[in-house]
Amino acid sequence: METKLLEPTHENIKEAARIIKAGGLVAFPTETVYGLGADAMNAEAVASVYKAKGRPSDNPLIVHIAEISDMAKLTPVVTDMMNKLAKHFWPGPLTMVVKKTENVPEITTGGLDTVAVRLPDNKNTRELIAVSGCPLVGPSANISGKPSPTKAAHVVDDLCGKIDAVLMGEDCRVGIESTVLDVSGEELTILRPGILTAEQIENSVGVKVNLDPALIKKKHTIQSPDRQKSDNGLLEDGDPDFKPRAPGMKYRHYAPNAEMLIIEGSADNVKKEIEQRKAQNEAEGKKVGVILFDSDDFEEAAHELFDQLRMMDKTGVDLILAGALPSEDGRGFAIMNRMLKSAGNNIVKV
Ligand code: AMP
Ligand code: MG
Repeated sequence: METKLLEPTHENIKEAARIIKAGGLVAFPTETVYGLGADAMNAEAVASVYKAKGRPSDNPLIVHIAEISDMAKLTPVVTDMMNKLAKHFWPGPLTMVVKKTENVPEITTGGLDTVAVRLPDNKNTRELIAVSGCPLVGPSANISGKPSPTKAAHVVDDLCGKIDAVLMGEDCRVGIESTVLDVSGEELTILRPGILTAEQIENSVGVKVNLDPALIKKKHTIQSPDRQKSDNGLLEDGDPDFKPRAPGMKYRHYAPNAEMLIIEGSADNVKKEIEQRKAQNEAEGKKVGVILFDSDDFEEAAHELFDQLRMMDKTGVDLILAGALPSEDGRGFAIMNRMLKSAGNNIVKV
């Protein structure tokens, strides 16, 4: 299949919308990462999203809307809390998990009775959704398991020939995926951390925000990257019996081809350990890449992480040594969530 690369003119957005209406696939830019769009209400189109990405079909998709009022098509009751959150944070990197209406196909929600909804902050993408006349699913526009795409070029690298078109755009401002917040029950619970933190949500709506227990695993040092049980005996990623509330959590994610090791400790110790391991591995003939962000510039780290992981693979790196970020800050916690998955939980403390 030829993949059209569409510059974001009104004419091209109309063409992209025609493709969506006909059941096709169009990748689109957002402030978090690029999404792979299809008509969220068309089960066949959604099935082809899973296929193009190679994504397991029990991992539900996020549905993207153009206006807050579009919520009413997807959920039976738009509560005061949903409205409050929407007014504070949309358009923006917040996804709300809400009860779904019957017309949302099961394949869109991985068989769940809830649907994840987001209003993205990219005006061309919102125009695409509006002109298509339907909400769009938008999982990250990459091959499942690879680092998420934060540049149009990443989408082309992964999906050229497999999708109908890419609505071209700028590099993603945030660079990691949205915060997924479950608002379908009594309490607010973060199912996936993002740049928008529990603290920011609490401060704006005045209600306590919980973190899903699956996110707060005891920290441990793992020798083998494919080990599946943590020190506290909990089942983890890769184990078919592990059923977290955000099903995406159970899959290995964001993974470069290279082996990756995270080094956690004081800035000095981390630097020394990285230098030592780099020299040692290079002496053994390995190509080593280093990822070391300023420990207080979380925005920059989020913006750069996936691009750096992809660059490491492009340049044939065998081993990536990455410095941990402090996860007391909610943004650091979100970035570490991605880094730990990239590294298959391979971490050492120094
Ligand atoms: P992605 O599309 O790759 O950004 O992943 C979407 C994330 O949202 C995954 O981790 C999903 O498991 C999560 N998600 C989507 N829909 C739901 C839902 N209805 N309930 C809980 N988590 C969801
Ligand atoms: Mg993804």
